[in-house]
Amino acid sequence: MNRFEFISSIIGASIKISSNSIFFNQKENNPLLIGKGFPDLNKGPIKILKSVELKFNQMKNAAKKEGINIKIVSGYRSFQRQKLIWNKKYLNNQKQGLNPIENINKIIQYSTIPGTSRHHWGTEIDIIDENHNIKGDLLLEKNYYDNSFEALRLWMEKNSYKYGFILPYTKDKNRSGFLYEPWHYSYSKLSIPFLEEYIQLKMIDKIYDPEILGIEMLTKDFLYEYQKKFILGIDKKLLF
Ligand SMILES: [Zn+2]
Repeated sequence: MNRFEFISSIIGASIKISSNSIFFNQKENNPLLIGKGFPDLNKGPIKILKSVELKFNQMKNAAKKEGINIKIVSGYRSFQRQKLIWNKKYLNNQKQGLNPIENINKIIQYSTIPGTSRHHWGTEIDIIDENHNIKGDLLLEKNYYDNSFEALRLWMEKNSYKYGFILPYTKDKNRSGFLYEPWHYSYSKLSIPFLEEYIQLKMIDKIYDPEILGIEMLTKDFLYEYQKKFILGIDKKLLF
């Protein structure tokens, strides 16, 4: 391949990526995908992308007519914020005597390695039903199967897809990765192309940060295995 052909093939490749990219005109290795950019977020205490909020509000209004009061308790999260969550859990597990591998395996039952959270994209929401004031941890599976949030779960299972919201971490036994999260929904119209771009641009190679506790265990092999089992261990409807 001569120099011209080589350059053309690079340009060709980047055009291919850009053509169905949400981040058109932005450089490769998009920092937004790992929670390091400045996404177009809504106002209000819990942040999500403005375009996601629009669809969310339509869904919220429809649910309200049937007596369900959907409230987002977690939305957009930056790399920095995910790192704080990760490190806090790591220190806690360390105190209980877990070795680094046990520690990481425990954290990744529900939480993600910084730079790999779908919450970085502004397309993900963790939701509860505000009609029920319950004490303690809200985001527990049992709350979505008793009188607290069961009506919300059933309504979402029946209706959320009409607004583009899909559950990534289903109860499906054949699914690998994170445990079942009946509270976590993804705005598929954006999150599907984001995931595609994340994988194509090999964003997993860009998350290195010496401040992540246990970083020495997060080798390239580990991270690619984690990508296969966890990042891609979601409902098939959300794969590209
Ligand atoms: Zn979540």
